[in-house]
This record gives sequence, C-alpha cells and structure tokens, in this order.
Amino acid sequence: MAISDKATCEVRIDGAWRLVPLTEAHAQHRSAEKRCPACHGRVNTQGSYAAQGTVAMAHRRLHDGCPRIPRSFTGKLTPHPQALD
Ligand SMILES: [Zn+2]
Repeated sequence: MAISDKATCEVRIDGAWRLVPLTEAHAQHRSAEKRCPACHGRVNTQGSYAAQGTVAMAHRRLHDGCPRIPRSFTGKLTPHPQALD
C-alpha cells in the first residue's frame, strides 16, 4: 500500500529521524520526538484507533513557511524557527 507524503511524519528512533506513517507514529511512538518532514518543526499526532484510522499531524507551533499547514502557508517553504535537528 502506497503511503502518501501527507500521511507521514518523522520520528526520532534510536537517535535517527525516520519517516513513518502517521498511524504508526501515533500508535507505536507516542512518547518519541516527532517532527514535520517539510519544515522540521516539532509536531504531535492526533487521532483515534477507530477503524478508519485517521491520524492527523499538528505542529506545536504554527509556521507560515510549511506546506503541511495549508491555512497559513505563504507559498514559500522555509525552515521552522524551532526546527529539530
Ligand atoms: Zn511543517
């Protein structure tokens, strides 16, 4: 099953950032640090374990240079001011 890039986030696993599906990040990496693949800002996952498995990624701090936040995106990708590295 293909994974849309809109349905992933990066999780710090054993010191390395790995791109994982949001559903997996939410279910298996709850306490791990997570960041946005686009701007590297810190994010949380929000969702339920319902059958449809919808999990959303939410930036802890909004940022207008991230296409993953369509409502505030200016159209130009810029790094998050509090990017994790
Ligand atoms: Zn972002």
